[in-house]
Amino acid sequence: MDTQKKVRKLAIMGGTFDPIHMGHLVTAEEVRHEFNVDEVLFVPTGHPPHKSHINMTTCEHRYLMTVLATAANPYFKVSRIEIEREGVTYTIDTIKELKRIYGEEVELYFITGADAVHKILGWKESTELLQLCDFVAVTRPGYNKEELLRKVKMLNEQYETNIHFLEVPALAISSSDIRRRLMEMKPIKYLVPQEVENYIKKHDLYDYNIQLTEDEKACMYDYVASKLSPKRYAHTRGVVEMALEYAKLNGIDYDETFIAALFHDIAKELPTEETLAICDKYGIALDEYERTHPYLVHGKVGAVILQRDWGISKPSILDAIRYHTLGRLNMTDLEKAIYLADMTEEGRSSYKGKDEIKRLAQYNLDRAMYKALVSSNNYITNILKQEAHPIINELIQYYKQFDIQED
Ligand code: NAP
Repeated sequence: MDTQKKVRKLAIMGGTFDPIHMGHLVTAEEVRHEFNVDEVLFVPTGHPPHKSHINMTTCEHRYLMTVLATAANPYFKVSRIEIEREGVTYTIDTIKELKRIYGEEVELYFITGADAVHKILGWKESTELLQLCDFVAVTRPGYNKEELLRKVKMLNEQYETNIHFLEVPALAISSSDIRRRLMEMKPIKYLVPQEVENYIKKHDLYDYNIQLTEDEKACMYDYVASKLSPKRYAHTRGVVEMALEYAKLNGIDYDETFIAALFHDIAKELPTEETLAICDKYGIALDEYERTHPYLVHGKVGAVILQRDWGISKPSILDAIRYHTLGRLNMTDLEKAIYLADMTEEGRSSYKGKDEIKRLAQYNLDRAMYKALVSSNNYITNILKQEAHPIINELIQYYKQFDIQED
């Protein structure tokens, strides 16, 4: 195309854009100004190598939202190059194709989130990629810049590449936060362009019920099996079976229960240093007790791993994983089902009261919770000779009201 031939400096805004928001637009405009580029080309991802497609909004929706968001800016364009490519999409292929379209002499700047810079050496043909274009690593407020700057310096020296760094305050907005707000029925006005908000509402995006296919479930089983020891995996399968039974009998969503049960212990066997590093990186707050008993944190870390590796951000599922170890006040039925299934799955060694908790969990989750909490507390104080986390006693006091004798 003629117009594309005139472009000497092109910025490529690569991203999932699920959904596109004001932070992306401010970033693109800032880069255009800062690097004096002729055009910013938004390239919504197809199937990126680092993400499962489960729960990612379809390419077409993400593409159309990007078109709507950028239509008013004469310097912004949107490309279908990645969403039309079959299979997994790699940035190197995109860059090579853009060089072909715009001409070999075009100067390219690839804009992406700073986290990508940390992982860039793992990308396909990274050495060549680093030679083909400059990178602009953008960060949101609160990002640990020191570590990033060290990495950028190392890459620039070692690979003779050009990685620039740009802090964009408007990136306090994030796509995941917008999805979360929508699921929690909170407003997103002024966080995304009005046209994008209208589009989201019209197509009911992000207010989704998860529906897994058999292939997706098999994929998840394989992933979990690859992360756990055979013993832990057998326990996990037992929890899935038990939790699904409780879900059926108590009217809890089947697929949400399946995912929460399957991933509940995904972080259980991580070394302590890795667990704490993830807490640090993702800002997971730990109380005094958790800091001295880090194995209890695997629920919170497991939720992060599910979100990070599978793009699943439905709060109900994440909370069921997050709170399956200690419980919390105001637990949902899904949270109770996972907590109880963890304590009663068939493979778990027998203890006094196990059968009763199992029987109660089939029709009275609150009463089962009371029995389960009392049993946990007894085990921790009498067998392990430890002091239980204070939440356990608080929960026992709360659930006591449901411990009414049956006729
Ligand atoms: P992501 O993992 O979803 O994003 C990581 C973080 O960076 C998020 O906080 C995200 O914020 C932010 N971010 C991503 N792109 C951004 C942008 N252009 N401007 C500002 N913030 C941005 O990353 P992604 O969006 O899927 O991927 C980013 C790009 O890297 C894509 O073009 C992808 O194809 C490419 N990539 C290539 C390879 C490979 O070739 N092997 C591997 C990984 C990624 P928001 O959620 O708010 O956007």
